[in-house]
Amino acid sequence: MSHHIADPVVHREHWREPDDDQLRLECGVCGVWGAPENEASSIVALGLHALQHRGQEACGIASVHNSESFFTERHMGLVGEAFGNADLTNRLPGCAAVGHTRYSTAGGSFLRNVQPMFADLDQGGIAIAHNGNLTNFKHIHAQLVSEGAIFQSTSDSEAILHLIARSRKAKIVERFIDALGRIEGGFALVAQTRFKMIGARDPLGIRPLVLGKLGEAWVLASETCALDTMGATFIRDVEHGEVVVIDEEGLTSIKPFAAQAARPCLFEYVYFARPDSIVNGRSVYEVRKEMGRRLAQEFQIEADIVVPVPDSGVPAALGYAQAAGIPFEMGIIRSHYLGRTFIQPSQASRQKGVRMKHSPNKAVLEGKRVVLIDDSIVRGTTSLKLVRAVRAAGATEVHLRSASPQILYPDFYGIDMPERSQLMAATHSMEEMRAILEVDSLGFLSIDGLYEATGAGPRDNTAPQFTDHYFTGEYPTRLLDREAEEGGREMRGKKVSILTVNA
Ligand code: AMP
Repeated sequence: MSHHIADPVVHREHWREPDDDQLRLECGVCGVWGAPENEASSIVALGLHALQHRGQEACGIASVHNSESFFTERHMGLVGEAFGNADLTNRLPGCAAVGHTRYSTAGGSFLRNVQPMFADLDQGGIAIAHNGNLTNFKHIHAQLVSEGAIFQSTSDSEAILHLIARSRKAKIVERFIDALGRIEGGFALVAQTRFKMIGARDPLGIRPLVLGKLGEAWVLASETCALDTMGATFIRDVEHGEVVVIDEEGLTSIKPFAAQAARPCLFEYVYFARPDSIVNGRSVYEVRKEMGRRLAQEFQIEADIVVPVPDSGVPAALGYAQAAGIPFEMGIIRSHYLGRTFIQPSQASRQKGVRMKHSPNKAVLEGKRVVLIDDSIVRGTTSLKLVRAVRAAGATEVHLRSASPQILYPDFYGIDMPERSQLMAATHSMEEMRAILEVDSLGFLSIDGLYEATGAGPRDNTAPQFTDHYFTGEYPTRLLDREAEEGGREMRGKKVSILTVNA
């Protein structure tokens, strides 16, 4: 086989000082194949804009021109700043493109970790965008380095590129699949080669990926809200463990893994997905409203108003208010000129962010008994600040409700969930939390209430319908890297205490 030397490969990188906290990856990915001449990157930019809530730290687009040349641009910051108001036809030309929007990082927030990642293989280039977190990254990394691989970044996505590059299979799709066979954890991948777009979801479908059409073009994206913004029509979810290959021949579906039942991530419904997305066939907005309704049924309380923590608690608070017959009021106003609090990765900036982000609406709160609703309580930082603000604005009682169960365990599949020592519910009793958060009462939706809200029925404890370890401690895969750190203790499917927590 002759070695292919790629024609112009243009990479532009735009650096700014990152926050240095180390958190896990949360991301949005999208790609388009077969777009009108030089329009693919603009379409992907629209898709990334709709996926901005999945990560605000950095973003990038790689395009393929004439099935020959690759162009990439990677920026720190927001999609609009990087790709808005710009003519991308010259910067990122071609009929195919892949994009990525990134939350903080496995491996630090350095630009060299920003995606899409690109590699020149002997058959030509490949650009890859990855949402998720590999649970055997350290294992693979050590092995590759011992074999002579040189890593440019500390991101697990680069390990996937190395595995593809080193596969002994002949064809690019076979090499891609070969690489998938080596990785473990949660992943949704979109890759562009010179002739093909490839999409893939992990065997349990932990991370989401949907397929759409835009005229003749095929589109892949983390969420359906991106399809809507791109003007594409939703075709179907990429299935768990499915690889889709899109090229001149159309779409080919490959199922390379042993069949397993799907276990998508429950937290997409709780917090992560945008409310106008359809996840696993269910409207995220409707599921969140139903979470609120069930919350009202599980705890009956006398109050004057139901107030959401905007925006994450709004659908649940609406459902709560309707079910309880208590008026819904915007007792907290959110500034829209800041990103999501959590998405500023250090605790110091996170706390500052909370103060800047929400303001109590005194006219609504004064003299009222308030049910305050958020989608989840993680560290408790957001809740305590808001409870104090609501009381300072004159509320006479504050009853805090979380539309999801207590978060007790960290995540390793691509949702930022801190170690147990930082998870409020993992380190405190209910009464301790109530006292710390300075509320009159505190309640969390039950795990069955949450499952029922998704329409999946109660949790099937022998074969859970979702990935839900943050609530239950039952990890759906082995966690090779973490288990190695823990002296080889098997964690899959067990309720285990990963850290010794000083309660
Ligand atoms: P905390 O202040 O740590 O209790 O965080 C709770 C807030 O963060 C809630 O308002 C949630 O909407 C939001 N949140 C929950 N989980 C996540 C996550 N994995 N990534 C970013 N934000 C989150």
